[in-house]
Amino acid sequence: MLDAVRELLSGSYGVDGELKRLPGENENYSVTAGEGGRYVLKLADAGLRSDELELEHQAVEHAQAATLGVALPRIRPTKRGSIEARSAGAGGLRGRLLEFVSGSAWCDRETPPGTETLRALGSLLARLDLALARVSHPAAIRTHRWDLTAARQHRPKIGLVEDPARRRLLEQAFHLYGACALPRLGNLPWSLIHGDANDENILLDGDRISGLLDFGDCLHNPTVCEVAIALAYVMLEREDPVEAGAAMVGGYHSVRPLSADELAVLYPLICGRLGTTVTVAAERRQIDPDHPNWFVSEGPAWRLLEKLGADDPAEIGSALAAETGIDPFADRGAPLMNLREARRRHIGPALSLSYREPLKIVRGAGAYLYDQRGRPYLDLVNNVCHVGHCHPRVVEAGQRQMAQLNTNTRYVYDGLTAYAERLSGKLPAGLDVCFFVNSGSEANELALRLAWTATGRKDLLVVDGAYHGHTSTLIDISPYKFMGKGGRGRPEPWVHVVPVADGYRGVHKGMSSETGRAYADDLGRVIGDMSTPPAAFISESLLGCGGQVIPPAGYFQRAYEHVRAAGGICIADEVQVGFGRVGSRFWAFELQDVVPDIVVMGKPIGNGHPMSAVVTTREIADAFANGMEFFATFGGNPVSCAIGMAVLDVVDEEGLQQHALEVGSRFKRGLELIKEKHALIGDVRGEGLFLGIELVRDRKTLEPADTEAAELIERMKRRGVLLSVDGPLHNVLKIKPPMVLSADDVDMVLRTLSDELTVL
Ligand code: PMP
Repeated sequence: MLDAVRELLSGSYGVDGELKRLPGENENYSVTAGEGGRYVLKLADAGLRSDELELEHQAVEHAQAATLGVALPRIRPTKRGSIEARSAGAGGLRGRLLEFVSGSAWCDRETPPGTETLRALGSLLARLDLALARVSHPAAIRTHRWDLTAARQHRPKIGLVEDPARRRLLEQAFHLYGACALPRLGNLPWSLIHGDANDENILLDGDRISGLLDFGDCLHNPTVCEVAIALAYVMLEREDPVEAGAAMVGGYHSVRPLSADELAVLYPLICGRLGTTVTVAAERRQIDPDHPNWFVSEGPAWRLLEKLGADDPAEIGSALAAETGIDPFADRGAPLMNLREARRRHIGPALSLSYREPLKIVRGAGAYLYDQRGRPYLDLVNNVCHVGHCHPRVVEAGQRQMAQLNTNTRYVYDGLTAYAERLSGKLPAGLDVCFFVNSGSEANELALRLAWTATGRKDLLVVDGAYHGHTSTLIDISPYKFMGKGGRGRPEPWVHVVPVADGYRGVHKGMSSETGRAYADDLGRVIGDMSTPPAAFISESLLGCGGQVIPPAGYFQRAYEHVRAAGGICIADEVQVGFGRVGSRFWAFELQDVVPDIVVMGKPIGNGHPMSAVVTTREIADAFANGMEFFATFGGNPVSCAIGMAVLDVVDEEGLQQHALEVGSRFKRGLELIKEKHALIGDVRGEGLFLGIELVRDRKTLEPADTEAAELIERMKRRGVLLSVDGPLHNVLKIKPPMVLSADDVDMVLRTLSDELTVL
């Protein structure tokens, strides 16, 4: 090899001299030329493209032109003026000759460099970034293993780490990175960055920074990644990592001011880089556990993760920004304690808080909620923020319309009819008359009035365990409430409860059409026992509060037959399950190929904006027009219509129904695998992103594991995953997240759930 390298040197550069292979990952040689010059000859990896080499060359030359006051590895052109040398013949060597940069590496210092050196490093990187921002080269749009915007690629390797405490720490680091940095990077300034200012690439002469090496990883990135990458090394093995980091950030900020948004992502990005360092090391250990260079940063990176892991990310983030005069976490508001006290004074105690130690949430985005300590939580509970918390498109639609017109439905305006048309277009033919109100409860109330008026009857069939809303009438028809805590049993003789079609715990077992038929015939018998025929049968298409129950095949078809044979109306409550959540269909009733007479929609319809709808047939709507006027002040106002329309646009354009199908199937498959390992899981069920996990102490007796369920959601919350427990026996974990849940986060939940079940 040495001979071939020597030949390349003299042939292409006319340089002869002493050659020495340098330690490190790449084939690099130190060259001491006869005339006294010193160089590094870098042999190109087989994959290195010439445009990438050109990019590296341009980056160094721009940095050089900016007179940064440090030596840089400039490329010495070949005798023919090209930046790369090639030896003749097929399979010949390729390489480039760089000017030697002297100094000792930052990482080789006995004692870590002091504050002034840290500030100088920050300022150097800022000046470098300003210079690199002027480079425009197509090859800069690339990614590689160390690309900090792509650190998520390393997350699945967490399983390679054996120590559970470290795995947990690493989950936390990647969670912070994935939830707090990644979603915000698109809105930050991007430019060409060096991208690898690690402690081997920064050279010192005493306390002075004398050189910066290795532009080989430069790429177009959020500029702040430059800072985060450098921080992930200068903070290693220090008593005071955050203070040291703050000095470097201060130095950087004094030259290229960082915005509050850039400062807010610094610590999450550092976590992403440290996570990359230790997972890449874990992966490489499988290839060569004794490699001399692969593991140098691994121990220090773990120690830094361990040192910072217990602290609040917001505190670290604010401290890192201390010298900038900006607090990126200024939105923390009043302390949780004070708010709880104020709540006790002014909010009715019948309203409970989730979790033993309640959360103070300050922000939401996508599938995440964020607390005042800067901790992210993956929200698996909220099916209201259907297309993601604070989806910018929905927010903008509402803001724009609010600034233009908001009035009531006694005027004609485009938004109302356009939205009604669009919504009807999502339903089977015949369901095309819309009523707009403001909540699921209001919509169900209206659905009942429609049914009562259209049939002239009162009796109602409801499903055991069901919840339909919080008004007096709806409490009276919701067994979930009147049979639950504080309830007083069935309050009204016209309310008839039919068994829930629960193939796991109910009287008829299984998901077959026989089971579906048996449950539907139970409903038929209830009708047979009634002294007056029913006005309507109201049911969720899949039961939410009832315990995420999926009725067995054919249930609704036969149940609807019984109801219609008795002259009753079929109402589908799609408040929780509609708008594509079930994945394979847009509405959950479509899973069983039935067409209801009235469909009730709420929660996801406005992505959190209070709106709801009842859609029915012309016949029922006309019967309702009996002279008594229907009017709801806010229902169907232009702002609600604009928001509803934006939600449908996002669902369609972002392909969220298909996404729910794919991610939901991945989730369910993963849960089924976990069920094989953990006897506590009795049943995993669901459609798309509407899933339930039923916990039992004994798979034969089905003894409900309610305290275990409560404990498990507390543990998952501590690990940054929000779940809730429901069902009449308080033993079903509910999963109904915003539809933008990523596959990556699903995998995280599966790993975390499995870990927590192991130690529960
Ligand atoms: N129907 C179902 C199935 C629900 O889950 C809910 C709310 N949990 C409602 C109706 C009532 O909706 P709202 O709280 O918007 O009044």
